[in-house]
Amino acid sequence: MSDELIDRVFGREGLIARFHENYEYREGQVEMAAHVADAFHARKHLMVEAGTGTGKTLAYLVPAIAAAVGQKTRIVISTGTKNLQEQLMEKDIPFLKKVLPTKFTAAYMKGRSNYACLYRITKAEDQPVLDGLDQIDNFRKIARWVKETETGDRRELVDLPENLPFWNRINARGEICIGQKCPDFEPCFITRMRNRAEAADIIVVNHHLFFADLSVRGNQFGKVIPDYGAVIFDEAHLIEDIASDYFGSQVSNFQIDELVRDIDGLPIHDPVVTRELTKLAAKVSGLSETFWMRFSQAKFDGRYPLLPDAFAYRNSLGGTDPTALGEAYEALDNALKSLEKETDGFAADMPEAESLLKRTRQARFDLEFIATQTERNFVYWIERRGKGIYLRASPVDVSELLREKLFEKVETCILTSATLSSGGSFNFIRERLGLDTAKTNAFTAPSSFDHERQAVLYLPKAMPDPRSNEFTQLAAGEIVKILQVTNGHAFVLCTSNFSMNALYELVSSRVNFPCFVQGSMSKAGILDRFRTTKNAVLFATTSFWQGVDVQGDQLSCVIIDKLPFAVPSDPIVAARSRFIDDQGGRSFLDYSVPQAVITLKQGIGRLIRSRTDRGVIAILDPRLRTKPYGRQFLESLPRMRIVSDPEQIREVLTSL
Ligand code: SF4
Repeated sequence: MSDELIDRVFGREGLIARFHENYEYREGQVEMAAHVADAFHARKHLMVEAGTGTGKTLAYLVPAIAAAVGQKTRIVISTGTKNLQEQLMEKDIPFLKKVLPTKFTAAYMKGRSNYACLYRITKAEDQPVLDGLDQIDNFRKIARWVKETETGDRRELVDLPENLPFWNRINARGEICIGQKCPDFEPCFITRMRNRAEAADIIVVNHHLFFADLSVRGNQFGKVIPDYGAVIFDEAHLIEDIASDYFGSQVSNFQIDELVRDIDGLPIHDPVVTRELTKLAAKVSGLSETFWMRFSQAKFDGRYPLLPDAFAYRNSLGGTDPTALGEAYEALDNALKSLEKETDGFAADMPEAESLLKRTRQARFDLEFIATQTERNFVYWIERRGKGIYLRASPVDVSELLREKLFEKVETCILTSATLSSGGSFNFIRERLGLDTAKTNAFTAPSSFDHERQAVLYLPKAMPDPRSNEFTQLAAGEIVKILQVTNGHAFVLCTSNFSMNALYELVSSRVNFPCFVQGSMSKAGILDRFRTTKNAVLFATTSFWQGVDVQGDQLSCVIIDKLPFAVPSDPIVAARSRFIDDQGGRSFLDYSVPQAVITLKQGIGRLIRSRTDRGVIAILDPRLRTKPYGRQFLESLPRMRIVSDPEQIREVLTSL
């Protein structure tokens, strides 16, 4: 795509300007489009940091469409969230279809669990999957809907609750799909989704689907996304964690419960065999319960390390210990082995039994992988979420895997995000993801926002170390002073649930503004309340640091309690740090600091969302000024005036 063409599209009198009444010419957007077009032309990788307001979506979409059509190759666009995926399909792509003279086709693909399974819905009509009568109406609605919908995407079911208890039993998840043996294979929504994607120039997916697909790509089986010539990752700062999830192994109590439930669902009509299978199901169920009960250290939601000798068979004195995890594991493994043997007998003639056999084998394989902990490049850990207990193994370093499976196989990968660099350098993300320096260009698109004019940075004069006892009390005092100046209109972004709740308690009783705290309702619900309530203040943690967009005066203050370092005791963070140290690196400076810089930039990015926004960013952590690494944080932020007295905030805000 030549400069002339880019000008024809993005220029002041260009095609977009003609169709978009609010279009503003943005230098950063034009430069980014030119760099993306070059990367396609030179068949190189590219990292682009494009802050809010650059218009990065169109800046990569336009050259991607030109390359897909011109080079006759399929291009995948992978987004960090389903929301962004939907925005591309519903807003940006239809707009470009109207504006660009080039004709192109686009399709979206989501993870299989978003789609209904026709086969299982038909079966469920005779074999109940519902736990309560109140679900009957919802099931009937779904059964009617699948006869009319083109996509089978559950997002269309807007009237049904988000958490449908039985959805997991009627969706099109890969583990329980019987594939080409299915009588509904042709009209299956997954088959239709694949067919649409096969015919498309541009396929829009999300990172979860992309890496789930990449992890099974070598072996054809399970692959969902059609072959592609290039990939664009939006919100690319999320890639490392998501890739690490999909290149690992996992077993959960839910997974074993589901195997047990599906034994009952096998269409076997011989009463003797059925009785035997029911006995076996009861045995697996009982042993599974005993096994999961052993994880008593995971009492609360969170992530815990799985110690290397966790599956010890004997107690510390060397005697047999009937309460040891190793004993419980062996008993469960033996029961699963019996299940494997039983289902093997039916697998050839009964696709349901074949699927059950495969899942049992996989569960045994994953359990053994996690129990033996022989793969040294993996970290082994437990996660507790509500009633779920998950045993997991994740690669400590994904750079080699990504290099081998992605960056050396696909000629052009474009990685973009509002936050990719730290201290002006892309080295951190390049090394974490395994991008070859010679084959990868990097570029920072200039923002169209003028932070120096639109925002002020408040750093209080005297705050104690954030680990000290008095920090929370004094932070609450600072927050109250700031809110009095800004009249609320604020996000207080915290680094832990503990700080969030403590600050909410301390501050909400001392101000007259409506205060909300994350967790008191759904994320969408609380955001809606914040947007529609005058002078509101929202106390939040991790999930509000990114992907949240509130424009205008309603959000004119973002307060950050502490520098967002990842929790060092988190099993993955600890394993990555150890790995870097063992290789002769300095994990704090090479990993913890740049990672926290990127998170801080995400948090700060919540404030200025348009050229007319203005406001204050307050960072209450004194380490920004007192520690040598504080400079790296300050140098990574947009240029802003710095003040240290709340009254100065008032003066600056009135002059902005
Ligand atoms: S092919 Fe698989 S997902 Fe599709 S309807 Fe059949 S069982 Fe369900």
